[in-house]
Amino acid sequence: MKEEEIRPTALFDQYLALAEQDVFTYFNEAPRQIIPCPACGNNNNTPVFRKTGFKYVECNTCKTLFVNPRPDEKSFNNYYTNSPSVQFWATHFYKETEKARRELIIRPKAIKVGQLLERYLKPGTEHPVIIDIGAGYGVFCEELGALHKKDYTVMGIEPSPALQEICRQKKLQVIPKFLEEVVPEDINGGRCAAATSFELLEHLYNPGAFIRSCRSLLDKGGILILTTLSWDGFDLQVLGEKSKSINPPHHINFFTPHSVRLLLEMNGFRLLEVTTPGKLDVDIVMKQLPDVSCEFVRRMFAKGDIPTKERFQEFLQNSLMSSHMMIVAERQ
Ligand SMILES: [Zn+2]
Repeated sequence: MKEEEIRPTALFDQYLALAEQDVFTYFNEAPRQIIPCPACGNNNNTPVFRKTGFKYVECNTCKTLFVNPRPDEKSFNNYYTNSPSVQFWATHFYKETEKARRELIIRPKAIKVGQLLERYLKPGTEHPVIIDIGAGYGVFCEELGALHKKDYTVMGIEPSPALQEICRQKKLQVIPKFLEEVVPEDINGGRCAAATSFELLEHLYNPGAFIRSCRSLLDKGGILILTTLSWDGFDLQVLGEKSKSINPPHHINFFTPHSVRLLLEMNGFRLLEVTTPGKLDVDIVMKQLPDVSCEFVRRMFAKGDIPTKERFQEFLQNSLMSSHMMIVAERQ
């Protein structure tokens, strides 16, 4: 898989330019507050860089990177509901890349999630309920449902009315609420065996509150599967503030395999596994080679042949050093 297939450069840059303008509109006047580390709760941190007016710091204890001080939650809600860049993502970016994303990312993810559920779900419940938090266009629910119709009842939680409608047209079961508003009556029989949330944690104003809401949703022993960006990841470490993944106001929390464990344990989960199955680190850095200051990386990527780069990506995956991280945890 190449980055171009899921994030065509011209379209992605147009989106980033819009997001940059939105930062001034939605956050310039926002009150800002100093916050503790979202993973370990420590107050000691070191400034790392500033990007479009957002200051990123790294926790001295657990090395999580996060935006601090934080603009207030109201500004983020207003931005996600009304801003042109969020509209552009839905009407242009997502639509134009949906087919490629379905085939290259979402179907393989549904296969992987099916394997994880088989490994970790405790036997007992007939047709257990699996809920995708932030179902969006419902593509993951469709794919998981197609693979496991006879095994699971697949549902989605989606607060946006426009996206709920798309899910309903696809005959998906959708709970039209924010996660924290969901009550047992919304779920068949009130029991949820597993929940998934993809690429959401890095956006959240309060990740700890989100994990606690996931805990309320799940049965004891239930499984939570998350994906997010890892600050230990190769392309993020090599590109730093030049990384296009560091794009406020969107990505404001970058946990690591170590710090995400702390986040989960502090909020009532036990970590079962953390992996970094990312495929794009090398490709992303190759495309931004002029922004790389590390001479070793520049030489390796300028001279290295394709098998060398593939082996390097494999090494990153196997060493918890890709920036795409997948987490499986059990509700305590
Ligand atoms: Zn920390």
